[in-house]
Amino acid sequence: MNDAFAAYVASARTLASERNVQWDLPVDCDGAIEKQAAWDLTAMAGAVPPPTTRLSDLGGDRNTIEVLNQRLAEMGRPAVAKTALSRGWQDLIKAVTVQQIMVSRNTPAHVNNQVIRPLKVLGTCVQALSGAEPWAMTADDVRFARSVAIAAQASGKLGELVESVVKYVLDARHLCDHGPFHQLLKTEGGDRSKPVKRGPQIRKGLGERKNEERLPELRALWELVRIVFTEHPRTFTDALRFAQIKLLILCGLRVGEVCSIPADWKRVRDYVDLDGRDAGTVGGVSRTLMLRHFAEKQWGRDENSVLLYEAFQHVPTLFEPVIEETLDGIVTLTAPLRERLRLQAETGRYFPEFAEDEFLSLFDLYTRLSGNPQIRAAGIPNDLVNEYRQSFDVSVLAKIAEQQDRSPGPSAKPFHSYWNRLAEAGWPKFASRVRVSEIEHLVAEHLPTKLSDTASFPLGDGKFLRADELLFLSPKRAIVETRNDGICDVSRYFAVGRLTPEDLIGHLAPSDKGIFARYGETPEDRRLGLNTHALRHLQNTELFRLGIADAMITKRFNRRTVAQSYEYDHRSLAEDLAAIDLPAAARELPEKAQTVAAMIQAGKASGPIVDAFRRIQKESGDKRAFEFLAAEADGFHATPYGHCINSFTIDPCPKHLQCFDGCNHLLATDIERHRRNLEQTRAAMAKAIQEIKGRPPGIGRDNQLRHAEAMVASIDKVLATADGKRPFPGDADRFTPIGKQRTLFDV
Ligand code: SF4
Repeated sequence: MNDAFAAYVASARTLASERNVQWDLPVDCDGAIEKQAAWDLTAMAGAVPPPTTRLSDLGGDRNTIEVLNQRLAEMGRPAVAKTALSRGWQDLIKAVTVQQIMVSRNTPAHVNNQVIRPLKVLGTCVQALSGAEPWAMTADDVRFARSVAIAAQASGKLGELVESVVKYVLDARHLCDHGPFHQLLKTEGGDRSKPVKRGPQIRKGLGERKNEERLPELRALWELVRIVFTEHPRTFTDALRFAQIKLLILCGLRVGEVCSIPADWKRVRDYVDLDGRDAGTVGGVSRTLMLRHFAEKQWGRDENSVLLYEAFQHVPTLFEPVIEETLDGIVTLTAPLRERLRLQAETGRYFPEFAEDEFLSLFDLYTRLSGNPQIRAAGIPNDLVNEYRQSFDVSVLAKIAEQQDRSPGPSAKPFHSYWNRLAEAGWPKFASRVRVSEIEHLVAEHLPTKLSDTASFPLGDGKFLRADELLFLSPKRAIVETRNDGICDVSRYFAVGRLTPEDLIGHLAPSDKGIFARYGETPEDRRLGLNTHALRHLQNTELFRLGIADAMITKRFNRRTVAQSYEYDHRSLAEDLAAIDLPAAARELPEKAQTVAAMIQAGKASGPIVDAFRRIQKESGDKRAFEFLAAEADGFHATPYGHCINSFTIDPCPKHLQCFDGCNHLLATDIERHRRNLEQTRAAMAKAIQEIKGRPPGIGRDNQLRHAEAMVASIDKVLATADGKRPFPGDADRFTPIGKQRTLFDV
């Protein structure tokens, strides 16, 4: 072990012991950590559950092992099983976790998914290939791990994460004897199934978009819009999810920001003129609506990532009615849950609506514990069930409770089986009534996963947001609704939770229980899925496309820098050009000339016309220059070998469309089709040269050979020229003799 690795682990170990985090973890042979000893990353980060993220396994990555074994089989090596990682790898994972949570203060979800998982994949592959400890692994180990990671996840994301931990953890801290590795990986590129695009992208056609894979897939987007705007939600929780999805579509917020919207969401500003008159009556805007929410990612480097920051987003007038109707509806829907959560948080009790010495009937208690309002075998009349599902109105729940109370006959089978299950789990056998204090004690002891989410959220300004102030409150683990296709009596069910980002992400992913699977119109629709973040990319791009200033877009999406907004800009080249603000004179030009003018402005075109345009603009101003362009750039032509800016109304094509033969109107491009044509022509020329060389010597043969070789050289020159540049600038002075001075005049 080298000194850097030893020091890194030692400092993390010290930090862990200062925070009373147990370092030596009991791990079984396949890597699972004993349940009681698993690290609670959510608590370590000071974040508010749910979800609770745990480091509960220090073994190989289960999802990578299948692909790993395929690779090992190809190499003639025996298969491996999931086992505990070596002590060195375990120490590395624990040290990185401590550093990420306690020093960098990243969120538990980020650390778990973006750091711990790729480190485990790296450890799994290196252990299987060479058995090396992390400090002793070689470039071959890293290459192998990256290729397995790429094969294990088709999107290429896992391979990217492996590269990232190699660069930012292992290389940055010099933890490996044979490192750094990152430069090597970058040069080699790797065998990605899908290249990962970073930084500014070169688009090869006017219609091509930058990183378009980050935008939602068209069919999935329209199907999702159809579902949330036209389908009626079948459950209470789906009604909340539909509202969240509408917000994702209309506001482009991050999924975590949507989940943490407060019930007190609405902010309205009224505008008046100087005389106090409504601004709308004098041609202005009378009222604007703002969405109060809590912005994520407002921290700087090493600042706390789990804090929430209050922010406001202006709602476009077009969306005001739908957002008001949707969110006000959810405020009403969740009111009983909110009130119960508030009382629970204030009193620390589970049934605060009753005094501790009160008695509850088993029938009432059954609904309060399970959520199921059906206590009679005869069931709930369909018309009442349908009425509730149409409105999710609590007054219908009251009608259902009354109907069940009045209903004669035996109690329902689930009612009995529920109490029997509890008795098997150690609950006492109750008679007909139970004291509230006794049931609260039993709930605390036996139903820990059902306890309401009462913890407050720390805010960036040092205050706290109470859990009951959130908008999207839902019945927690109400299996009567989620699994048994029943209805949950939210007016009495005691467990109140929040809809988490993980819930929404999971319900929009392709799965047999997701939104698409349950509401999709056709079998294909039911297999669709959509990444929640793609909707943020979509709205960002649309705002760019509509010409909204980047500063406004940046503010709307709670970003810290304008540059971040351009990461979400997926406009095509044509849309980019259309967005370029041309001077007034240029707007009078014919359409094609305007395209050329925009390309000149964007620095995407060069050539004799462009040079002349710039010279005239400098010497005689914009007006003359655009007059010149209107006359000269009557054509912006696509040729088989590149782009041509030549006015054919003035000059005929000088090279008979053999653009690669030294024509100074030709602009090279990166377009695949152009390069393919050039390469095919070059191959034909090379073949011709071989044939000519085989002929008997003579003047004709020599001329043909010289011509063909000159063509090949010209084609090579075009192929070597950068996109948008002229391979044959044509600026050599033909009058001046080339080479050394021959006469006194050759100065
Ligand atoms: S040979 Fe020159 S002028 Fe003719 S089309 Fe090609 S680039 Fe344009």
